[in-house]
Formats: sequence, structure tokens, C-alpha cells
Amino acid sequence: METPVASAKILDGKAVAARIRNDLARQAAALASHGVQPGLAVVLVGEDPASQIYVRNKTKACAEVGIRTFDHRLPATTSKAELLALIARLNADPQVDGILVQLPLPAGLDAREILPAVDPRKDVDGIHPDNLGRLVMGEPRFVACTPLGIMTLIEETGVKLAGAEAVVVGRSNMVGKPMAALLTAADATVTTCHSKTRDLAAAVGRADVVVAAVGRAEMIRGAWIKPGAVVIDVGINREANGKLRGDVEFAAAAARASAITPVPGGVGPMTIAMLLVNTVAAAKIRAAGPAR
Ligand code: NDP
Repeated sequence: METPVASAKILDGKAVAARIRNDLARQAAALASHGVQPGLAVVLVGEDPASQIYVRNKTKACAEVGIRTFDHRLPATTSKAELLALIARLNADPQVDGILVQLPLPAGLDAREILPAVDPRKDVDGIHPDNLGRLVMGEPRFVACTPLGIMTLIEETGVKLAGAEAVVVGRSNMVGKPMAALLTAADATVTTCHSKTRDLAAAVGRADVVVAAVGRAEMIRGAWIKPGAVVIDVGINREANGKLRGDVEFAAAAARASAITPVPGGVGPMTIAMLLVNTVAAAKIRAAGPAR
């Protein structure tokens, strides 16, 4: 067994997010003094308990920084036409700078048919096809909140991304793909791994920066981590006892990494902070001029 180089710096997403929220509160107050209060419409369809918690946390975070929220809670029986009609109203509402449609949608509603209906200029979640396309083309508008927050956490480590080997495990549209695009734009050499990757341990072992976004508790083993690597754990896996675990075997990885995010308290708070960042950015565009 190799001797651990050092014990990793714990990347405190909660603290970084708090700093960002303080700054946003000042920006929101400045906008409000010019008659523009940032506004976020939050659409929750159905009764999914985890979604209810996420929505509550996002709404609370908005209130803390001075973003007004417009709550739309719809029953699980809502039809596609009804949901699209609501989105059309929100698209047209000048008080609404951002629209968040909480996922997952209940069975019977297909996110691929609903999300593209959100005006991409109000897509503060950064998941509209236009916005993902713009990111890939190097002309980002709104970037998906989780990968955007991760870039801030990576900056905190001071690691030089240009020329670095970055490995993203997971290729979802909300996390893995935009993450790989952001790291590529930052001049890292990026490998995206997924369920068909032949030798995940070898790929992870080459990485200077690892982002794990799989959804399987501790599947990234500590022994795979290259000594000195930066390790970002996106995974949220709830155990039977209610405890949360990440996708990375934390203690063993922390013994080898130079920096690592905890679960909880790492990526999660940053995701919410970036939703606020994007909403305030959308409000600034409204404040800047009449044409949207
Ligand atoms: P998805 O289920 O959409 O994607 C999971 C990805 O992991 C897929 O690309 C899949 O590959 C890949 N995968 C599955 N099994 C393996 C395997 N054995 N080896 C390698 N790759 C594998 O999940 P999300 O991207 O939406 O979320 C990932 C995790 O991050 C979840 O735990 C989620 O809860 C969490 N999350 C946390 C957030 C936060 O704020 N902290 C925000 C968003 C998500 P394939 O494409 O081949 O199926």
C-alpha cells in the first residue's frame, strides 16, 4: 500500500456558498433600489418528498438574498397542456426573471417535452437545449447550476486546469455533460466515463481532477485516486438510516487527495447558490434594457 501524501483540504461548499449569497444580497438590493427585484418562479408538480425539500431550500435561499419567488404547486395529475400553459404565462411575465421546473416530473410528464418550453433567457437552471448547446459552443448564457458551482469550488483549490487531466464520471445532461464542457473550456484534457467504461479505476487514477456524478454510494474507491488530485463528489445517496453518502469512498480518498468535497456540505450548497447567481444575472439583463 502507498503512503498517503497528505490529508486533503476539505472544500467547504457551505462556507463558499454563504460568501456568494452575501455578495448576491448586495447585488439584489442594488437592483431593487432601481425598481427591479429579481424574481424566480418555482414550479413543483406532484408530491415527491425529496423535491419538496429541495424546493423549500431553494425558496428559503432566495428569500435570504432578496429574490422574490412565485410558487406554483401543481397536482401530480397535471396534464402536459396545463403545465405548458403555465410555463407560457411565466415566460411572458416581466416580474419573472427565472423559471425553475423541479425535476423529476411525475410519471406521465416527459421532461424532454416540458423543459424546452421554458424561455432560454429565463432558464436559470441552465438545462434548456439552447443553453447546453451554447455552453458546448463556447458561448455560455446560463450554465447548469451543479457544474457551475463545482467550477467555483475547483477555483478555490488553486489547481491549474490548463493541461490538467480531468475525469468526469457520469454523462447526464444536467451534470456530467456540462461539467465536461466547462472543464474543456478551461483547457483541461477531459475524459468522460460512464456505465460502459471498461476500466474506470485506471481512468480515475490518471486524473488530476475527478468529478464523480454517478449516484452510487462510494463506488469511486479511495485507492484509485492519484496522490494530490482534487476530488469533487456530486453524489447524493441516502442510506436506510437517513444518512447521506457520496459517490466517493471519502476517508480513503481524502488520505490521497489534495482537496475533496464532503457529502453533505460540498457540492449541494453550491448548486443552490448558483441558481441564485443565475437568477440575479437574469434580473440584471432585465434592468439593463427593455428588450429581452
Ligand atoms: P444520472 O442517473 O442522470 O447519471 C448517472 C451517470 O452515471 C450516467 O451517465 C451513468 O452512465 C453513470 N454510471 C452509472 N453507473 C456507472 C458505473 N458503474 N460506472 C460509471 N458510470 C456509471 O445522475 P445525475 O447526473 O443526475 O446525478 C448523479 C448523482 O449526483 C446523483 O447521486 C444525484 O443525486 C447527484 N446530484 C447532486 C446534485 C447536488 O447538488 N449535489 C445535483 C444533481 C445531482 P450511463 O450514461 O452509461 O447510464
